Amino acid sequence: MSHVFPRHTKTLPLTVSHGQGVYLYDVDGKAYFDGSGGAAVSCLGHGDPEVTAAIKAQLDAVAFAHTSFFTSAPAEALADKLIAHAPEGIDRVYFVSGGSEAMEAALKLARQYYVEIGQPQRRHVIARRQSYHGNTLFALATGGNAWRRAPFAPLMVDTAHISACYAYRGQEAGESAEAYGLRMANELEAQIQRLGADTVFAFVAEPVVGATAGAVPPVPGYFKRIREICDQYGVLLILDEVMCGMGRTGTLFACEQDDVRPDIIAVAKGLGAGYQPIGAMLCSADIYTAIEDGSGYFQHGHTYVGHPVACAAALAVLTRLTDGGLVARVDEMGKRLQAALEQAFGQHPNVGDIRGRGLFRGIEFVMDRETKAPFPPERALHKALKKATFEAGLICYPMGGTIDGQRGDHILLAPPFILDDSHIEEIVTKLGTAIDTVI
Ligand code: PMP
Repeated sequence: MSHVFPRHTKTLPLTVSHGQGVYLYDVDGKAYFDGSGGAAVSCLGHGDPEVTAAIKAQLDAVAFAHTSFFTSAPAEALADKLIAHAPEGIDRVYFVSGGSEAMEAALKLARQYYVEIGQPQRRHVIARRQSYHGNTLFALATGGNAWRRAPFAPLMVDTAHISACYAYRGQEAGESAEAYGLRMANELEAQIQRLGADTVFAFVAEPVVGATAGAVPPVPGYFKRIREICDQYGVLLILDEVMCGMGRTGTLFACEQDDVRPDIIAVAKGLGAGYQPIGAMLCSADIYTAIEDGSGYFQHGHTYVGHPVACAAALAVLTRLTDGGLVARVDEMGKRLQAALEQAFGQHPNVGDIRGRGLFRGIEFVMDRETKAPFPPERALHKALKKATFEAGLICYPMGGTIDGQRGDHILLAPPFILDDSHIEEIVTKLGTAIDTVI
């Protein structure tokens, strides 16, 4: 009997044996195409020799030195490289061990900023209902995922939520994408006014929604209007790029494609590519300076902040993504994946939408394409798809449930950036087998 916790079903998880390239192998030798990198983690695939060599070299030099005494060469170099590629105005990096920690740090930094500049009445954060920002309590309260929050409801920080930008379901007949985006963004202004114009310290959003609805990009102009509203009311814009960042959508930071200038960005997953647990919170010079000139210290910290081995791994990953040219192929390979998915499933009576950016693609399943009626919850289609794809030798990330009042069954594909055309064929074939099995 295994003592490992959690155990998702009687049969899963299996014990992994090893990984190589785009494949994971179980202890019986069966290969699985890693079509989602867990949840958009393994952007380099498995067994990357440059990253493992960097980890070994750092272990030989020094594994750990506490950040109250030391920074380290890989932490310094990684911060420099991230800032060199970050959106304009972003100037400082705070390293943590994962996505929830990055979001928790982002939220606390935003609040502390307003305390430092003499506006402590700003105590509200606004986020979107269709969102996931992590499982620690502040991040959980910020996310809109009702069933994840339910057991902890009495412990939640009081956060406010608006609609996400979800054109497939939200855009009305006859409404242009731009008009829809404006209508959704303006919900932020209404919510700020409802809470009190000078009481909100941050608005939080994923540029491309990941874990709640399978790769939902915004419509053009949405984030431009969001930025205007944030500027008008002095609200900090926190972008959660934990899943969609680090090249996943075709640019190193997903927000580059929406021409939006965030105040704080959270990244994780693809930053360590699964080789080490690491996340980062990046902030503007203005925020950093306010704290440095104020109390002088961000009231936060974890034992493993800036862990040298995690930073060495992430530096090797980031070097492969940027100097190694891997991000540059994401857009093209993503277009090919989208075209192959559309060709294979675009006319399927139960496929409602195939969407995404770069190598971040989602498929939404419906009972009826015309009415977009979802499958009933008791059918648990996403769970059946998870099982069937896994049996077919494909790992993808299934999502289901009711978010923002809308039920849905989705599959997220986030394959490694090293994939080639034969791998795209393999994804489509295995997914087709699974869909035929369950629908
Ligand atoms: N934000 C987003 C957008 C995520 O997708 C996730 C993880 N799925 C998190 C935050 C939390 O990250 P972690 O699981 O590394 O704590």
